[in-house]
Amino acid sequence: MNHPHDPDAAARSALRIIGPDPANWVPDRPGIDHNVAIVGGGQTGCALAFALRRAGIGKVTILEAAADEQRAGIWLNAARMNMLRTPKGLPGPELGIPALSFQAWFEARHGQEAYDAIERIKRTDWADYLSWYKHFLGITPRYSTRLDRIEPAGDHFRLHLETPTGASVETARKIILATGFRGGGERFIPDVLTKNLPPSRYSHTEDTIDFTALRGKTVGVIGAAASAFDAAGVALEQGAAAVHLFCRRAAVAATPVIGARFFAGAIDNYHQLSDADRWLHAVRFFRAGSMPTTDAIERAVKFPNFHLHLAAPWTDAVERDGHAVTTIHGTTYRLDHVIAGTGYSADLAARPELRDFDGQILRWRDRYMPPADEQDEMLAAYPYLGAGHEFMEKTPGSAPLLRHIHVQNPSGFVSFGLPIGDVPCMKRDIPVITGRISADLFNTNLDVLRPRMVGDVPPGFTDAIYRSAVR
Ligand SMILES: Cc1cc2nc3c(=O)[nH]c(=O)nc-3n(C[C@H](O)[C@H](O)[C@H](O)COP(=O)(O)OP(=O)(O)OC[C@H]3O[C@@H](n4cnc5c(N)ncnc54)[C@H](O)[C@@H]3O)c2cc1C
Repeated sequence: MNHPHDPDAAARSALRIIGPDPANWVPDRPGIDHNVAIVGGGQTGCALAFALRRAGIGKVTILEAAADEQRAGIWLNAARMNMLRTPKGLPGPELGIPALSFQAWFEARHGQEAYDAIERIKRTDWADYLSWYKHFLGITPRYSTRLDRIEPAGDHFRLHLETPTGASVETARKIILATGFRGGGERFIPDVLTKNLPPSRYSHTEDTIDFTALRGKTVGVIGAAASAFDAAGVALEQGAAAVHLFCRRAAVAATPVIGARFFAGAIDNYHQLSDADRWLHAVRFFRAGSMPTTDAIERAVKFPNFHLHLAAPWTDAVERDGHAVTTIHGTTYRLDHVIAGTGYSADLAARPELRDFDGQILRWRDRYMPPADEQDEMLAAYPYLGAGHEFMEKTPGSAPLLRHIHVQNPSGFVSFGLPIGDVPCMKRDIPVITGRISADLFNTNLDVLRPRMVGDVPPGFTDAIYRSAVR
């Protein structure tokens, strides 16, 4: 029962009932700063930090490149939709503790009826909830701290950091990459833009875009997934003269093929599927196309100055008189600005922090040869992750430390079958990663833990309490 003036009462009570956090059981080692370095202070990094704490794993640090909480994660930045795309009732960062869930947080502030009335979660409410989660649980990402390079150093890593006070090096035994979309590669911007137009003429949907500067302008959007429609919607709401959205396909992707395997058994046991099964699902997902939400489409379509061009791939572009000019099927478009809603590439070689492991990480292409009609170079570049979400070695024995880097970003898609980092995978993946890290730290510290487990324990009582009854 929530006290009307204390929306945190139920959450506090839940923490009291689950009891104090277990003490840190991981033995200190000379020269090691962190048992676990979590890279990324978005929802994934913060939820993992809470899970590790509850597993008694101390000395965990969260490295976050963004300057502050507002700029970390996507919700107040690249995400422009009004509502989350995922259903409101999914389990998330509360990690099985109902009073820490979005629903409990929302109802404590607005009441149960208000929760029942929302169709999906407002993006800004989700951001507020995540902010509360962090502060309430005392999770403190280190802002303005970017991981630049992971250097192997014997049985641990040297982390090269850019910090507010300059470059520094810290050491860690385990790393979790909770680095979001870009963590598996780079933003993908088609060559037709990068090769033909000055960078000022286009943006990627991930960029901070000054939409007010597009008021009265003609804007082109390339791509027809949710982020593209979101960007079109914001441009129109901010007063763009016209928005042209160019979709490569003959129709906007409308079939959520992933829905067929969105049941608990398939989600929970996905990693046990054969390579052939998992590959087929990944190919099927990408061939069906990334589907925008209905409200994202409606948000744009309601404007008469929104123009949707189907079967309209860009093949040429030129900068002319301050415009991006392209001709598609004989029609020429003159655009003041172009926004690429074209997603991300899977390219581990593009990740600066992984440069020391270039060529050593096992990819799907090293492990599985698909049938001719299922070939896909882009998917083949995804890392082939182990059951604890760890990188694996391309050549066994060549880079044994890779198994201590755990990946919880979208590059885990082919291995784990869901958009990794999104809310739907939290319930499954966070316990798995935490369990593996706990097991690895336990096993690699047995030299200290084994004697501890058979160490001296003071008696619980002396014979004084029963001596009088001894006959
Ligand atoms: C437009 C858009 C809409 C989405 N809508 C939904 C939705 O409705 N529902 C849903 O479940 N998912 C949605 N997603 C997926 C979404 O990305 C995730 O749910 C969520 O943001 C994942 O959180 P995260 O913490 O894993 O990653 P992010 O929120 O991306 O956070 C990653 C963090 O890592 C930091 N970082 C990266 N590299 C480094 C480095 N080298 N050093 C230090 N810090 C680093 C970044 O600064 C960032 O703050 C959406 C994604 C996009 C792009």
